Amino acid sequence: MKIARTIAEMRDLTANSSRPLGFVATMGALHDGHLSLVRAAREQCHEVVMSIFVNPLQFGPSEDFDRYPRDEERDLKLAEREGVDIAFVPSVDEMYPGGRATSVSVSGVTDRYEGASRPGHFDGVATVVAKLFGIVGPDLAFFGQKDAQQVAVVRRMVTDLSIPVEVVGCPTIREPDGLAVSSRNAYLDDAERKAAPVIHRCLGAGRASLEDLGEPAAAESAMLEALRGEPLVRVEYAAAVDPASFGPPVPGGQVLLIVAATLGRTRLIDNLPIDVGGQI
Ligand code: AMP
Repeated sequence: MKIARTIAEMRDLTANSSRPLGFVATMGALHDGHLSLVRAAREQCHEVVMSIFVNPLQFGPSEDFDRYPRDEERDLKLAEREGVDIAFVPSVDEMYPGGRATSVSVSGVTDRYEGASRPGHFDGVATVVAKLFGIVGPDLAFFGQKDAQQVAVVRRMVTDLSIPVEVVGCPTIREPDGLAVSSRNAYLDDAERKAAPVIHRCLGAGRASLEDLGEPAAAESAMLEALRGEPLVRVEYAAAVDPASFGPPVPGGQVLLIVAATLGRTRLIDNLPIDVGGQI
């Protein structure tokens, strides 16, 4: 595996890459979710680039940028073992040398949920992903459906800016008890970790309600009801949305159930796509 630390090194390394070139963007602290994206990329691409960059732009002032888990040596070993061809590991100065006068902002799909809870977050995501696409020049880019609103934002940005990258959404990888694998799960103490799977279970309750009644509002109530049973969990939102716009579900279309909740100091999100086959 080759390692690039500067944009110039990265461009040199991909100048003669055999195409299609696959790309997986990460903030490191690699886990099975990240590695599943590499596997998908390897299946569909001749070469795979992974970026490891904790992007300060997408963290709010009171969020966990400083304490975000970082272990470059371990990450590079895991990436190499999984068959990544090139790791791009830039510093913050390399990515943002002259300040931040330009940013990419996607409206509409960012209005609610993660966009509303984390002001500026999706501007940070869109800006860094646009930069990374410009630096790496991939044909396909692999993103986890675990961050479904992020996938919708990146898809919208790629369409609106005519960026020649195919965005591939990959399924959420879960722990045996259903909790979505996340770097932030490491923040949970024992009691919080035990309570956390309710975030996944509430999505099942929402699905059962939706399949039964075909009513997004009833599905939302069922999710909230399931979450109420767990006193350690503070719900931020539980909703049924259209997976592309994150507005209300479209009759006949797919419904995405989404949830965000906080356990102690740790904020977790999850979602479940449901094909309701024209019921709503
Ligand atoms: P992050 O390092 O958190 O920015 O995540 C990098 C990529 O890994 C994003 O596309 C995430 O959606 C994806 N990812 C994170 N957790 C999971 C998971 N449990 N299953 C699948 N993909 C994931």
